[in-house]
Amino acid sequence: MPELPDIEAYLEALRPRVMGERLLGVRLMNPFLLRTFDPPLDAVRGAQVQGLSRLGKRLVLELAVSGSEEPHYLVIHLMIAGRLHWRPAPADGADSAARGTGARTGPGRGNTLALFEFSSGALSLTEAGTKRRASLHLVRGREALAALDPGGIDVFSATPDQFAEAMRRENRTLKRALTDPRLLSGIGNAYSDEILHRARLSPLKLTRSLGGEEMERLRRAAVDVLRMWADRLAAEARDAFPEKVTAFRADMAVHGRFKSACPVCGTAVQRIVYADNECDYCPGCQTGGRILADRSLSRLLKDDWPRGTPGPGDIE
Ligand SMILES: [Zn+2]
Repeated sequence: MPELPDIEAYLEALRPRVMGERLLGVRLMNPFLLRTFDPPLDAVRGAQVQGLSRLGKRLVLELAVSGSEEPHYLVIHLMIAGRLHWRPAPADGADSAARGTGARTGPGRGNTLALFEFSSGALSLTEAGTKRRASLHLVRGREALAALDPGGIDVFSATPDQFAEAMRRENRTLKRALTDPRLLSGIGNAYSDEILHRARLSPLKLTRSLGGEEMERLRRAAVDVLRMWADRLAAEARDAFPEKVTAFRADMAVHGRFKSACPVCGTAVQRIVYADNECDYCPGCQTGGRILADRSLSRLLKDDWPRGTPGPGDIE
């Protein structure tokens, strides 16, 4: 799922392309994508883009609608398999119908669920696979936007005390707490693995068992890992629109690196798979050499994922 660094990269790429431009219209190829009905999508036809921001793992377009005093917000949640693609408007002034054909479903692109047509080009939202989880909300006013915020704190601006308070609010495994959008903003399965590796902490350690030094190490690791990746991906996004957004990057330390050598200590990376998630860790760096047994899964899942309910990665 696109997490904070990936969303920041999309924002970086979109700013020069759509800021100040007009949204000519939104075409829904799948009506279920849209989770709100008031205001209707037609309300933002012709609106001007006056802001782009991130709300947790969601991307927010702020629109100035003529005749409305309140800004409108299009809130795009890519969930796991949703991706964005950009195509500039043709220079010859071809009509929008011709432009739309470029958003056809292609191999590896998934199904196109919506097309956002701007004066400057077209942004398409695709979702791979058969599960339809991506969502679109259109809301009016800042209060309605704030209601969509799961409430997690921003690790960049949080004080050490605020970070510790959020993490200790419930006694959870670190893996679970880091990915809970009500506690921290924008962190999912991939970057939580990277953060825990950087902090040299077991994914199954419980948040209330962390000492002050460990908690601060975790906070710093979160800031450093997210900053490094956000900067790197944003730099790439300045060169080209991010078309290869993935949770698995070759130079990640442990995430998606099962059986590979840890770049720090050379130990083979281990994996725990649960529900739709996976947790990758280095026994050498994080668990004192111990391989977490299968039964530790029950600890990761205990009280956290009652049967039939979505995991934390699915909530936000
Ligand atoms: Zn290691």
